[in-house]
Amino acid sequence: MNYRTEEVAYVQPAIQPSAAASAQATQQRSTAEYRALDAAHHIHPFSDMGSLNRAGSRVIVKAHGVYLWDSDDNKIIDGMAGLWCVNVGYGRKELADAAYRQMQELPFYNTFFKTTHPPVIELSALLAELAPEPFNHFFYCNSGSEGNDTVLRIVHQYWATQGKHSKKVVISRKNGYHGSTIAGGTLGGMGYMHEQMPSKVENIVHIDQPYFFGEAEGNLTPEEFALARAQQLEAKILEIGADNVAAFIGEPFQGAGGVIFPASTYWPEIQRICRKYDILLVADEVIGGFGRTGEWFAHQHFGFEPDLITLAKGLTSGYVPMGAVGLHDRVAKAIIENGDFNHGLTYSGHPVAAAVALANLKLLRDEKIVELVKTDTGPYFQKKLRDTFANHPIIGEISGAGLVAGLQLAEDPKARKRFANGGEVGTICRDFCFNGNLIMRATGDRMLLSPPLVINKLEIDEIVAKAKYAIDATAQQLGIS
Ligand SMILES: *Cc1c(COP(=O)(O)O)cnc(C)c1O
Repeated sequence: MNYRTEEVAYVQPAIQPSAAASAQATQQRSTAEYRALDAAHHIHPFSDMGSLNRAGSRVIVKAHGVYLWDSDDNKIIDGMAGLWCVNVGYGRKELADAAYRQMQELPFYNTFFKTTHPPVIELSALLAELAPEPFNHFFYCNSGSEGNDTVLRIVHQYWATQGKHSKKVVISRKNGYHGSTIAGGTLGGMGYMHEQMPSKVENIVHIDQPYFFGEAEGNLTPEEFALARAQQLEAKILEIGADNVAAFIGEPFQGAGGVIFPASTYWPEIQRICRKYDILLVADEVIGGFGRTGEWFAHQHFGFEPDLITLAKGLTSGYVPMGAVGLHDRVAKAIIENGDFNHGLTYSGHPVAAAVALANLKLLRDEKIVELVKTDTGPYFQKKLRDTFANHPIIGEISGAGLVAGLQLAEDPKARKRFANGGEVGTICRDFCFNGNLIMRATGDRMLLSPPLVINKLEIDEIVAKAKYAIDATAQQLGIS
Protein backbone atom coordinates (compact mmCIF):
# COMPACT_ATOMS: atom_id res chain seq x y z
CA MET A 1 0.00 0.00 0.00
CA ASN A 2 1.30 3.42 -0.81
CA TYR A 3 -0.73 6.22 0.64
CA ARG A 4 0.64 8.84 -1.68
CA THR A 5 0.18 7.26 -5.08
CA GLU A 6 -3.34 8.59 -5.64
CA GLU A 7 -3.77 12.20 -6.62
CA VAL A 8 -6.62 13.43 -4.43
CA ALA A 9 -8.94 15.74 -6.32
CA TYR A 10 -10.26 17.16 -3.13
CA VAL A 11 -9.82 20.72 -1.93
CA GLN A 12 -9.27 21.08 1.79
CA PRO A 13 -11.85 23.44 3.34
CA ALA A 14 -10.37 26.38 5.22
CA ILE A 15 -10.18 25.07 8.76
CA GLN A 16 -7.88 26.78 11.20
CA PRO A 17 -5.60 24.22 12.83
CA SER A 18 -5.85 24.51 16.60
CA ALA A 19 -2.76 25.24 18.62
CA ALA A 20 -2.74 21.79 20.14
CA ALA A 21 -3.16 20.16 16.74
CA SER A 22 -0.16 21.78 15.20
CA ALA A 23 2.12 20.97 18.12
CA GLN A 24 4.49 18.19 17.11
CA ALA A 25 4.15 14.92 18.96
CA THR A 26 7.39 13.54 20.23
CA GLN A 27 8.02 10.94 17.60
CA GLN A 28 10.84 8.61 18.47
CA ARG A 29 11.38 6.65 15.27
CA SER A 30 10.94 6.89 11.52
CA THR A 31 7.89 5.36 9.86
CA ALA A 32 10.04 2.61 8.38
CA GLU A 33 11.44 1.70 11.80
CA TYR A 34 7.99 1.65 13.37
CA ARG A 35 6.67 -0.57 10.60
CA ALA A 36 9.57 -2.99 10.84
CA LEU A 37 9.19 -3.36 14.61
CA ASP A 38 5.42 -3.65 14.37
CA ALA A 39 5.76 -6.38 11.76
CA ALA A 40 8.39 -8.14 13.86
CA HIS A 41 6.50 -8.24 17.16
CA HIS A 42 2.85 -7.18 17.04
CA ILE A 43 -0.13 -9.32 16.08
CA HIS A 44 -3.10 -7.13 15.17
CA PRO A 45 -6.74 -7.99 15.88
CA PHE A 46 -8.91 -9.21 12.98
CA SER A 47 -6.02 -8.97 10.51
CA ASP A 48 -4.24 -11.05 7.92
CA MET A 49 -0.79 -10.48 9.40
CA GLY A 50 1.15 -11.77 6.42
CA SER A 51 -0.30 -9.26 3.99
CA LEU A 52 -0.41 -6.47 6.59
CA ASN A 53 3.27 -6.90 7.35
CA ARG A 54 4.17 -6.86 3.68
CA ALA A 55 2.20 -3.65 3.12
CA GLY A 56 3.07 -1.97 6.43
CA SER A 57 0.66 -0.49 8.95
CA ARG A 58 -0.18 3.17 9.04
CA VAL A 59 1.34 4.53 12.23
CA ILE A 60 -0.96 6.94 14.06
CA VAL A 61 0.98 9.21 16.37
CA LYS A 62 -1.37 11.88 17.69
CA ALA A 63 -4.90 13.22 17.53
CA HIS A 64 -6.97 16.26 18.29
CA GLY A 65 -10.70 16.90 17.92
CA VAL A 66 -11.80 14.81 14.93
CA TYR A 67 -8.33 14.60 13.34
CA LEU A 68 -5.52 12.06 13.48
CA TRP A 69 -1.92 12.46 12.35
CA ASP A 70 0.26 9.65 11.05
CA SER A 71 4.02 9.28 11.38
CA ASP A 72 4.52 11.01 8.02
CA ASP A 73 2.55 14.00 9.35
CA ASN A 74 -0.51 13.35 7.17
CA LYS A 75 -3.64 14.86 8.71
CA ILE A 76 -6.53 12.41 8.56
CA ILE A 77 -10.17 13.08 9.41
CA ASP A 78 -11.58 10.29 11.57
CA GLY A 79 -15.00 9.32 10.28
CA MET A 80 -15.16 6.37 12.70
CA ALA A 81 -14.40 7.96 16.11
CA GLY A 82 -11.58 5.45 16.53
CA LEU A 83 -13.66 2.28 16.67
CA TRP A 84 -17.09 3.88 17.29
CA CYS A 85 -15.94 5.10 20.67
CA VAL A 86 -14.25 8.53 20.83
CA ASN A 87 -17.56 10.34 21.32
CA VAL A 88 -16.12 13.51 22.93
CA GLY A 89 -13.31 13.72 20.37
CA TYR A 90 -9.57 13.46 20.89
CA GLY A 91 -7.44 15.54 23.23
CA ARG A 92 -9.96 16.38 25.97
CA LYS A 93 -7.88 17.55 28.89
CA GLU A 94 -10.75 16.98 31.34
CA LEU A 95 -10.41 13.23 30.83
CA ALA A 96 -6.61 13.24 31.07
CA ASP A 97 -6.81 15.29 34.27
CA ALA A 98 -9.39 12.94 35.80
CA ALA A 99 -7.08 9.95 35.13
CA TYR A 100 -4.03 11.77 36.47
CA ARG A 101 -5.75 12.86 39.68
CA GLN A 102 -7.25 9.42 40.28
CA MET A 103 -3.94 7.62 39.67
CA GLN A 104 -2.31 9.74 42.31
CA GLU A 105 -5.11 9.42 44.82
CA LEU A 106 -6.13 5.79 44.42
CA PRO A 107 -4.84 4.04 41.28
CA PHE A 108 -6.51 0.75 42.12
CA TYR A 109 -8.65 -0.91 44.65
CA ASN A 110 -11.00 -3.82 44.17
CA THR A 111 -14.72 -3.93 44.84
CA PHE A 112 -14.94 -7.65 45.62
CA PHE A 113 -14.74 -7.88 49.39
CA LYS A 114 -17.07 -5.37 51.03
CA THR A 115 -15.15 -2.36 49.74
CA THR A 116 -15.99 0.38 47.29
CA HIS A 117 -14.54 3.77 46.26
CA PRO A 118 -15.76 7.25 45.30
CA PRO A 119 -15.27 7.10 41.48
CA VAL A 120 -17.36 3.94 41.06
CA ILE A 121 -20.03 5.30 43.40
CA GLU A 122 -20.26 8.62 41.55
CA LEU A 123 -20.25 6.92 38.15
CA SER A 124 -23.07 4.55 39.13
CA ALA A 125 -25.17 7.40 40.49
CA LEU A 126 -24.64 9.46 37.34
CA LEU A 127 -25.43 6.54 35.03
CA ALA A 128 -28.67 5.99 36.95
CA GLU A 129 -29.50 9.64 36.37
CA LEU A 130 -28.70 9.57 32.64
CA ALA A 131 -30.22 6.18 31.79
CA PRO A 132 -33.99 5.73 31.41
CA GLU A 133 -35.89 5.51 34.68
CA PRO A 134 -35.93 1.76 35.37
CA PHE A 135 -32.12 1.48 35.04
CA ASN A 136 -30.65 2.11 38.48
CA HIS A 137 -27.98 -0.57 38.88
CA PHE A 138 -24.73 -1.15 37.00
CA PHE A 139 -22.13 -3.93 36.95
CA TYR A 140 -18.67 -3.09 35.57
CA CYS A 141 -16.13 -4.87 33.38
CA ASN A 142 -13.44 -3.86 30.90
CA SER A 143 -15.02 -4.26 27.48
CA GLY A 144 -18.19 -4.83 25.53
CA SER A 145 -17.34 -8.51 25.13
CA GLU A 146 -17.06 -8.95 28.88
CA GLY A 147 -20.29 -7.00 29.18
CA ASN A 148 -22.09 -9.59 27.08
CA ASP A 149 -20.46 -12.45 29.02
CA THR A 150 -21.84 -10.72 32.10
CA VAL A 151 -25.27 -10.47 30.47
CA LEU A 152 -25.32 -14.26 30.04
CA ARG A 153 -24.44 -14.72 33.72
CA ILE A 154 -27.14 -12.29 34.85
CA VAL A 155 -29.79 -13.81 32.57
CA HIS A 156 -28.98 -17.28 33.86
CA GLN A 157 -28.99 -16.17 37.50
CA TYR A 158 -32.23 -14.24 37.00
CA TRP A 159 -34.16 -17.29 35.78
CA ALA A 160 -32.62 -19.41 38.53
CA THR A 161 -33.99 -16.98 41.11
CA GLN A 162 -37.43 -17.30 39.46
CA GLY A 163 -37.27 -21.08 39.76
CA LYS A 164 -37.40 -21.39 35.98
CA HIS A 165 -34.31 -23.53 35.49
CA SER A 166 -35.22 -24.70 32.02
CA LYS A 167 -35.05 -21.19 30.59
CA LYS A 168 -31.56 -21.39 29.11
CA VAL A 169 -31.59 -20.57 25.40
CA VAL A 170 -30.54 -17.11 24.26
CA ILE A 171 -31.70 -16.03 20.82
CA SER A 172 -29.47 -13.70 18.83
CA ARG A 173 -29.16 -12.68 15.19
CA LYS A 174 -27.06 -13.52 12.17
CA ASN A 175 -24.65 -10.70 11.34
CA GLY A 176 -25.02 -9.27 14.84
CA TYR A 177 -21.82 -8.30 16.68
CA HIS A 178 -21.46 -8.85 20.41
CA GLY A 179 -17.69 -9.01 20.88
CA SER A 180 -14.89 -11.50 20.51
CA THR A 181 -14.65 -13.50 23.72
CA ILE A 182 -16.00 -17.03 23.30
CA ALA A 183 -19.42 -15.99 24.59
CA GLY A 184 -19.44 -12.67 22.71
CA GLY A 185 -18.34 -14.40 19.52
CA THR A 186 -20.99 -17.12 19.90
CA LEU A 187 -23.71 -14.55 20.58
CA GLY A 188 -22.61 -12.65 17.49
CA GLY A 189 -23.65 -13.99 14.14
CA MET A 190 -20.42 -13.61 12.21
CA GLY A 191 -19.80 -16.90 10.42
CA TYR A 192 -16.11 -16.18 9.85
CA MET A 193 -15.63 -15.86 13.61
CA HIS A 194 -17.61 -19.01 14.39
CA GLU A 195 -15.38 -20.95 11.97
CA GLN A 196 -12.27 -20.26 14.05
CA MET A 197 -13.73 -20.95 17.49
CA PRO A 198 -12.46 -24.01 19.37
CA SER A 199 -15.94 -24.44 20.84
CA LYS A 200 -19.05 -22.39 21.29
CA VAL A 201 -21.14 -21.46 24.27
CA GLU A 202 -24.13 -23.75 24.55
CA ASN A 203 -27.76 -22.74 24.16
CA ILE A 204 -27.30 -19.85 21.76
CA VAL A 205 -29.28 -19.81 18.50
CA HIS A 206 -29.66 -17.24 15.74
CA ILE A 207 -32.49 -15.81 13.67
CA ASP A 208 -32.22 -13.65 10.54
CA GLN A 209 -31.32 -9.97 10.64
CA PRO A 210 -33.62 -7.10 9.58
CA TYR A 211 -31.44 -6.15 6.59
CA PHE A 212 -33.94 -4.81 4.07
CA PHE A 213 -31.66 -3.84 1.18
CA GLY A 214 -29.77 -7.12 1.18
CA GLU A 215 -32.41 -9.66 2.13
CA ALA A 216 -35.96 -8.47 1.42
CA GLU A 217 -37.65 -10.42 -1.34
CA GLY A 218 -40.62 -9.56 -3.52
CA ASN A 219 -42.56 -6.37 -2.99
CA LEU A 220 -42.41 -6.15 0.80
CA THR A 221 -42.14 -2.62 2.17
CA PRO A 222 -39.35 -2.01 4.70
CA GLU A 223 -42.00 -2.00 7.45
CA GLU A 224 -43.53 -5.32 6.35
CA PHE A 225 -40.09 -6.89 6.00
CA ALA A 226 -38.98 -5.72 9.47
CA LEU A 227 -42.18 -7.09 10.98
CA ALA A 228 -41.64 -10.44 9.29
CA ARG A 229 -38.06 -10.59 10.59
CA ALA A 230 -39.24 -9.75 14.12
CA GLN A 231 -41.83 -12.51 13.88
CA GLN A 232 -39.04 -15.02 13.26
CA LEU A 233 -38.38 -14.55 16.97
CA GLU A 234 -41.87 -15.79 17.80
CA ALA A 235 -41.49 -18.75 15.46
CA LYS A 236 -38.15 -19.63 17.05
CA ILE A 237 -39.59 -19.39 20.57
CA LEU A 238 -42.48 -21.66 19.62
CA GLU A 239 -40.05 -24.13 18.05
CA ILE A 240 -37.83 -24.27 21.16
CA GLY A 241 -40.63 -23.85 23.69
CA ALA A 242 -41.02 -20.64 25.69
CA ASP A 243 -40.13 -22.54 28.88
CA ASN A 244 -36.67 -23.07 27.44
CA VAL A 245 -35.95 -19.56 26.21
CA ALA A 246 -34.17 -17.13 28.55
CA ALA A 247 -33.48 -14.02 26.50
CA PHE A 248 -33.25 -12.27 23.15
CA ILE A 249 -30.22 -10.04 22.48
CA GLY A 250 -29.75 -7.51 19.69
CA GLU A 251 -27.99 -4.28 18.87
CA PRO A 252 -30.73 -1.62 18.43
CA PHE A 253 -29.02 -0.98 15.09
CA GLN A 254 -26.27 -3.33 13.91
CA GLY A 255 -22.94 -1.49 13.95
CA ALA A 256 -20.12 -3.76 12.79
CA GLY A 257 -22.66 -5.65 10.66
CA GLY A 258 -22.97 -2.58 8.43
CA VAL A 259 -25.02 0.09 10.26
CA ILE A 260 -28.24 -1.74 9.56
CA PHE A 261 -31.24 0.22 10.79
CA PRO A 262 -34.44 -1.78 11.08
CA ALA A 263 -37.71 -0.10 10.07
CA SER A 264 -39.85 1.33 12.88
CA THR A 265 -42.02 -1.81 13.06
CA TYR A 266 -39.17 -4.05 14.23
CA TRP A 267 -38.44 -3.29 17.87
CA PRO A 268 -42.01 -2.82 19.12
CA GLU A 269 -42.80 -6.27 17.72
CA ILE A 270 -39.68 -7.80 19.30
CA GLN A 271 -40.70 -6.27 22.63
CA ARG A 272 -44.29 -7.55 22.31
CA ILE A 273 -43.01 -11.08 21.65
CA CYS A 274 -40.53 -10.99 24.55
CA ARG A 275 -43.27 -9.84 26.95
CA LYS A 276 -45.78 -12.37 25.67
CA TYR A 277 -43.46 -15.33 26.26
CA ASP A 278 -41.72 -13.95 29.36
CA ILE A 279 -38.29 -13.62 27.79
CA LEU A 280 -35.68 -11.06 28.83
CA LEU A 281 -34.87 -8.44 26.21
CA VAL A 282 -31.23 -7.36 26.03
CA ALA A 283 -30.12 -4.28 24.09
CA ASP A 284 -26.42 -4.32 23.23
CA GLU A 285 -25.83 -0.56 23.43
CA VAL A 286 -22.04 -0.75 23.07
CA ILE A 287 -22.16 1.45 19.95
CA GLY A 288 -25.63 2.95 20.29
CA GLY A 289 -25.15 4.16 23.85
CA PHE A 290 -24.03 7.67 24.84
CA GLY A 291 -25.47 9.77 22.09
CA ARG A 292 -24.72 8.10 18.76
CA THR A 293 -28.32 8.38 17.45
CA GLY A 294 -29.05 11.69 19.17
CA GLU A 295 -30.62 9.94 22.19
CA TRP A 296 -28.59 8.91 25.20
CA PHE A 297 -29.34 5.27 24.32
CA ALA A 298 -30.31 3.82 20.94
CA HIS A 299 -33.26 1.86 22.39
CA GLN A 300 -34.82 5.25 23.16
CA HIS A 301 -34.46 6.15 19.48
CA PHE A 302 -36.32 2.98 18.50
CA GLY A 303 -38.85 3.28 21.32
CA PHE A 304 -38.54 0.09 23.34
CA GLU A 305 -37.66 -0.89 26.90
CA PRO A 306 -35.00 -3.57 27.38
CA ASP A 307 -34.36 -5.52 30.60
CA LEU A 308 -30.58 -5.32 30.32
CA ILE A 309 -28.27 -2.95 28.44
CA THR A 310 -24.63 -3.65 27.54
CA LEU A 311 -22.37 -0.59 27.60
CA ALA A 312 -18.72 0.08 26.64
CA LYS A 313 -17.02 2.17 23.91
CA GLY A 314 -18.62 5.62 24.42
CA LEU A 315 -18.80 5.08 28.19
CA THR A 316 -15.23 6.38 28.44
CA SER A 317 -15.00 7.74 24.88
CA GLY A 318 -12.32 5.07 24.51
CA TYR A 319 -9.76 6.98 26.60
CA VAL A 320 -9.41 3.94 28.86
CA PRO A 321 -11.13 0.55 28.63
CA MET A 322 -14.38 0.05 30.52
CA GLY A 323 -17.62 -1.83 29.97
CA ALA A 324 -20.78 -2.17 32.02
CA VAL A 325 -24.18 -3.81 32.17
CA GLY A 326 -27.23 -1.82 33.22
CA LEU A 327 -29.98 -3.79 34.96
CA HIS A 328 -33.66 -2.91 34.82
CA ASP A 329 -35.12 -2.68 38.33
CA ARG A 330 -37.02 -5.96 37.99
CA VAL A 331 -33.84 -7.84 37.08
CA ALA A 332 -31.69 -5.99 39.60
CA LYS A 333 -34.11 -6.83 42.41
CA ALA A 334 -33.85 -10.56 41.68
CA ILE A 335 -30.05 -10.44 41.53
CA ILE A 336 -29.70 -8.32 44.67
CA GLU A 337 -32.08 -10.30 46.87
CA ASN A 338 -30.95 -13.80 46.11
CA GLY A 339 -27.52 -14.39 47.59
CA ASP A 340 -24.11 -14.48 45.94
CA PHE A 341 -23.64 -13.54 42.29
CA ASN A 342 -20.53 -15.49 41.41
CA HIS A 343 -18.98 -13.26 38.78
CA GLY A 344 -16.40 -10.47 38.75
CA LEU A 345 -13.27 -9.13 37.10
CA THR A 346 -10.19 -7.88 38.97
CA TYR A 347 -10.81 -4.52 37.35
CA SER A 348 -14.60 -4.36 37.81
CA GLY A 349 -15.23 -0.68 38.50
CA HIS A 350 -11.54 0.23 38.17
CA PRO A 351 -11.09 3.63 39.87
CA VAL A 352 -9.17 5.26 37.00
CA ALA A 353 -11.60 4.00 34.36
CA ALA A 354 -14.53 5.08 36.52
CA ALA A 355 -13.03 8.56 37.02
CA VAL A 356 -12.51 8.93 33.26
CA ALA A 357 -16.03 7.64 32.50
CA LEU A 358 -17.44 10.13 35.00
CA ALA A 359 -15.53 13.04 33.43
CA ASN A 360 -16.62 11.87 29.97
CA LEU A 361 -20.32 11.64 30.88
CA LYS A 362 -20.18 15.07 32.49
CA LEU A 363 -18.79 16.53 29.26
CA LEU A 364 -21.51 14.84 27.21
CA ARG A 365 -24.13 16.20 29.62
CA ASP A 366 -22.79 19.68 30.42
CA GLU A 367 -21.78 20.57 26.87
CA LYS A 368 -25.16 19.27 25.66
CA ILE A 369 -23.36 17.14 23.09
CA VAL A 370 -26.15 14.56 22.83
CA GLU A 371 -28.82 17.26 22.34
CA LEU A 372 -26.65 18.85 19.65
CA VAL A 373 -26.44 15.53 17.80
CA LYS A 374 -30.22 15.23 17.99
CA THR A 375 -31.20 18.73 16.93
CA ASP A 376 -28.29 20.09 14.91
CA THR A 377 -25.25 18.12 13.72
CA GLY A 378 -27.08 14.78 13.39
CA PRO A 379 -29.85 16.03 11.09
CA TYR A 380 -27.27 18.07 9.16
CA PHE A 381 -25.06 15.00 8.63
CA GLN A 382 -27.96 12.79 7.57
CA LYS A 383 -29.35 15.36 5.12
CA LYS A 384 -25.94 16.15 3.68
CA LEU A 385 -25.29 12.46 2.96
CA ARG A 386 -28.73 11.93 1.42
CA ASP A 387 -28.49 15.07 -0.71
CA THR A 388 -24.95 14.29 -1.84
CA PHE A 389 -25.66 10.70 -2.83
CA ALA A 390 -29.21 11.06 -4.18
CA ASN A 391 -29.31 9.12 -7.48
CA HIS A 392 -25.64 8.19 -7.22
CA PRO A 393 -24.92 5.34 -9.66
CA ILE A 394 -23.47 2.98 -7.00
CA ILE A 395 -25.24 4.05 -3.78
CA GLY A 396 -28.24 1.86 -3.05
CA GLU A 397 -29.33 3.13 0.35
CA ILE A 398 -28.22 5.37 3.17
CA SER A 399 -29.20 4.24 6.63
CA GLY A 400 -28.67 5.89 9.97
CA ALA A 401 -29.68 8.57 12.43
CA GLY A 402 -27.74 11.12 14.43
CA LEU A 403 -24.05 10.67 13.73
CA VAL A 404 -23.95 7.15 12.37
CA ALA A 405 -24.53 6.08 8.79
CA GLY A 406 -24.22 3.12 6.45
CA LEU A 407 -23.82 3.64 2.71
CA GLN A 408 -24.80 0.62 0.66
CA LEU A 409 -22.70 0.13 -2.47
CA ALA A 410 -24.76 -1.45 -5.23
CA GLU A 411 -24.38 -2.41 -8.86
CA ASP A 412 -27.95 -1.32 -9.63
CA PRO A 413 -29.34 0.81 -6.80
CA LYS A 414 -32.91 1.02 -8.12
CA ALA A 415 -33.22 -2.74 -8.60
CA ARG A 416 -31.56 -3.33 -5.19
CA LYS A 417 -28.93 -5.39 -7.01
CA ARG A 418 -25.69 -5.81 -5.05
CA PHE A 419 -22.24 -6.31 -6.54
CA ALA A 420 -21.32 -9.97 -6.99
CA ASN A 421 -17.91 -9.16 -5.48
CA GLY A 422 -19.20 -6.65 -2.91
CA GLY A 423 -16.37 -7.14 -0.43
CA GLU A 424 -13.78 -6.27 -3.06
CA VAL A 425 -15.71 -3.17 -4.08
CA GLY A 426 -15.87 -2.09 -0.44
CA THR A 427 -12.12 -2.57 -0.13
CA ILE A 428 -11.47 -0.50 -3.26
CA CYS A 429 -13.60 2.30 -1.83
CA ARG A 430 -11.96 2.04 1.59
CA ASP A 431 -8.52 2.36 -0.04
CA PHE A 432 -9.61 5.51 -1.90
CA CYS A 433 -10.77 6.94 1.46
CA PHE A 434 -7.45 6.05 3.01
CA ASN A 435 -5.55 7.74 0.19
CA GLY A 436 -7.74 10.80 0.62
CA ASN A 437 -7.01 10.93 4.38
CA LEU A 438 -10.52 9.96 5.43
CA ILE A 439 -11.15 7.06 7.78
CA MET A 440 -14.31 5.35 6.56
CA ARG A 441 -14.78 1.69 7.32
CA ALA A 442 -15.96 -0.95 4.85
CA THR A 443 -18.06 -3.90 6.01
CA GLY A 444 -18.48 -5.99 2.89
CA ASP A 445 -20.29 -3.71 0.48
CA ARG A 446 -21.37 -1.13 3.05
CA MET A 447 -19.31 1.96 3.88
CA LEU A 448 -19.67 3.10 7.47
CA LEU A 449 -19.39 6.48 9.16
CA SER A 450 -19.56 7.18 12.89
CA PRO A 451 -17.55 10.34 13.63
CA PRO A 452 -16.87 11.87 17.04
CA LEU A 453 -20.05 13.48 18.40
CA VAL A 454 -18.31 16.85 18.75
CA ILE A 455 -17.84 17.18 15.00
CA ASN A 456 -18.90 20.56 13.55
CA LYS A 457 -20.61 21.27 10.25
CA LEU A 458 -17.45 22.25 8.37
CA GLU A 459 -15.88 18.97 9.41
CA ILE A 460 -19.03 17.10 8.37
CA ASP A 461 -18.76 18.81 4.97
CA GLU A 462 -15.16 17.63 4.74
CA ILE A 463 -16.08 14.01 5.54
CA VAL A 464 -18.93 13.95 3.05
CA ALA A 465 -16.81 15.58 0.31
CA LYS A 466 -14.03 13.05 0.86
CA ALA A 467 -16.52 10.18 0.93
CA LYS A 468 -17.99 11.44 -2.34
CA TYR A 469 -14.55 11.58 -3.91
CA ALA A 470 -13.81 7.99 -2.82
CA ILE A 471 -17.17 6.64 -3.98
CA ASP A 472 -16.94 8.47 -7.31
CA ALA A 473 -13.44 7.11 -7.81
CA THR A 474 -14.72 3.60 -7.00
CA ALA A 475 -17.50 3.92 -9.59
CA GLN A 476 -15.00 5.20 -12.12
CA GLN A 477 -12.63 2.30 -11.48
CA LEU A 478 -15.54 -0.11 -12.00
CA GLY A 479 -16.45 1.67 -15.22
CA ILE A 480 -19.85 2.75 -13.90
CA SER A 481 -21.07 6.30 -14.35
C1 LIG B 1 -17.53 -3.39 19.91
C2 LIG B 1 -18.75 -4.12 20.30
C3 LIG B 1 -18.74 -5.12 21.29
C4 LIG B 1 -17.45 -5.62 21.89
O1 LIG B 1 -16.80 -4.66 22.64
P1 LIG B 1 -15.23 -4.89 22.97
O2 LIG B 1 -14.93 -3.75 23.87
O3 LIG B 1 -14.51 -4.88 21.67
O4 LIG B 1 -15.13 -6.21 23.65
C5 LIG B 1 -19.92 -5.67 21.69
N1 LIG B 1 -21.08 -5.28 21.15
C6 LIG B 1 -21.15 -4.35 20.19
C7 LIG B 1 -22.47 -3.93 19.65
C8 LIG B 1 -19.99 -3.74 19.73
O5 LIG B 1 -20.04 -2.85 18.75
